[in-house]
Amino acid sequence: MSLLEVNHIDVHYGDFLALKDVSIHVEPGTIVSLIGANGAGKSTIMNTICGLNKPTKGDIIFDGQNIAGKKPNQIARLGLSMAPEGSHCFERMTVQDNLLMGAYLAKKDERMQRLENVYKLFPILKEKANQMSTFLSGGQRQMLAIGRGIMTQPKILLCDEISLGLAPVVINDIYEKLKEIADTGLTMLIVEQDVNRSLKSSDYAYVVLEGKIVMQGKSKELSVDEVNDAYFGIN
Ligand code: ATP
Repeated sequence: MSLLEVNHIDVHYGDFLALKDVSIHVEPGTIVSLIGANGAGKSTIMNTICGLNKPTKGDIIFDGQNIAGKKPNQIARLGLSMAPEGSHCFERMTVQDNLLMGAYLAKKDERMQRLENVYKLFPILKEKANQMSTFLSGGQRQMLAIGRGIMTQPKILLCDEISLGLAPVVINDIYEKLKEIADTGLTMLIVEQDVNRSLKSSDYAYVVLEGKIVMQGKSKELSVDEVNDAYFGIN
């Protein structure tokens, strides 16, 4: 059974139909990637899964429950966590407090254990634990956003455009970490604009174009050229 099933959803912004009959399945323990150009609808898909947008058609089944139309905090409590695009964090809080916010419902010992796990994964965050997060570099903020997502100990982690505005070497670093996280068995749905990177770092991929899924398949079996054509809408 899929951990997450998006079934034939439409999403509107006013009269504008931003997603058209979108279906996505995420199997437990896999990394699934959404590929698409600017404005294709990737963030709309992520935000709809998290409860920030409501679908006007279709349903979203997460861990056996229909979550379409539920509030973001209700969905988060069911075990779905999102590291948002642009790696938003609480800038006037320290790195450590930002992380602890991700686990505010957990008991103290448990919270500290999760914190140690995140620090093991991202030692730089431990070094900067007591600094205000506003002083972090772009890559470190992205790590913080992922770390905060992990602190909730989710069943699935959604990462919207991890690479946005980062240097290639930093992006590679972060993808290495994602691999480590995936090896712990955590299921992930990620958004990535770079076709090569997307196919290399996922098990299954969907190409989004103008609000529709135009191609999908096992990442190993998809051809970069065909995905590139689908990405740009070239038939
Ligand atoms: P990007 O990579 O630039 O974030 P994306 O693939 O995530 O692009 P979305 O942000 O989901 O694309 O946008 C999909 C479409 O919906 C675009 O045409 C965009 O202009 C439109 N859109 C997104 N958010 C809103 C909104 N709040 N109100 C109206 N239209 C919106």
